[in-house]
Amino acid sequence: MTPMLEAKGLVRRYAMRRGLMGRSVEVRAVDGVSLSVERGRTLGLVGESGCGKSTTGRLVLGLEAPDAGSVAFQDKPMPPAGTPAWRALRSRMQMVFQDPLGALDRRLPIGAQVQEPLDIHAIGEAKDRPARAIEALRAVGLRPDQAARYPHELSGGQRQRAVLARALATEPALLVCDEPISALDVSIQAQVMNLLMEQQERLGLGILFISHDLRAVRQVSHRVAVMYLGTIVEEGEPDAVLHDPAHPYAQALVSAIPHPGRTGNRIVLQGDPPNPADRPTGCAFHPRCPVATAFCAREAPVLKPRNSDGRLVACHVAQGDVAPAVTQRAA
Ligand code: SF4
Repeated sequence: MTPMLEAKGLVRRYAMRRGLMGRSVEVRAVDGVSLSVERGRTLGLVGESGCGKSTTGRLVLGLEAPDAGSVAFQDKPMPPAGTPAWRALRSRMQMVFQDPLGALDRRLPIGAQVQEPLDIHAIGEAKDRPARAIEALRAVGLRPDQAARYPHELSGGQRQRAVLARALATEPALLVCDEPISALDVSIQAQVMNLLMEQQERLGLGILFISHDLRAVRQVSHRVAVMYLGTIVEEGEPDAVLHDPAHPYAQALVSAIPHPGRTGNRIVLQGDPPNPADRPTGCAFHPRCPVATAFCAREAPVLKPRNSDGRLVACHVAQGDVAPAVTQRAA
């Protein structure tokens, strides 16, 4: 299947000043990320806070320009942000953020906010747009009378539904969801994820689902990519990655998922996540990796197929190039 979104070798660097009078250092927030999203499929992007997931989401939508690499949407290069060609594409690519209250305008009724992208992109006849906005609200399970409500008059779950209605009103081809459920109660999280999957089926949406929650990612995704310090370290089918993670970082993430009856197999990583401005040499995970070897500190592994199951892994040990060091796994 041809991907509707294809990103190759994305790099995004920021300058950061150390201390008040300190010199400026370079932070590589995203460091050579390649990914693709197909029509009607979801790619889950998972990793700790600060690993570069959100920056990757903004890069693939063209909201930020990469320092290197390329993004193609529906077989055409992504136009530079702010240009008429990019604005014309925005109705086909939408983003859903973590905080629904922050994403909505508190001074405008929900219906007007759902209609806004239809007005901006001049979609349909002006006289039909209020009805289309109501339809979009209905599609996400909100009642027509709720169109007149203001964001603070809705619950958190209803607000996130309104955000989804706004994103889906233009019938986009691609949806980038950045932690769309992490601000919601657990009971509402399942409803919003089900809604996303229903709308995906209805519209054939390609979704990039960004989350720190591996369980949520597994539920909605057709493929999962695990990120660590700006790079993808493992990518594969959700069941394969969750049942048999190959990369030591993915193994630690999976082992931290609470599981009834699981005892004694949690992998406790040593140390804190490294400062992106002080990136370790070789494999960026080596200072925390339980099986790191001296070779790992010298040579950065490349993301490549591990075997015939379609799994991509960036790890010398998982690829069988070096033997693991003695493990220090804690129970
Ligand atoms: Fe650990 Fe080495 Fe693999 Fe990096 S390359 S994850 S340090 S074993």
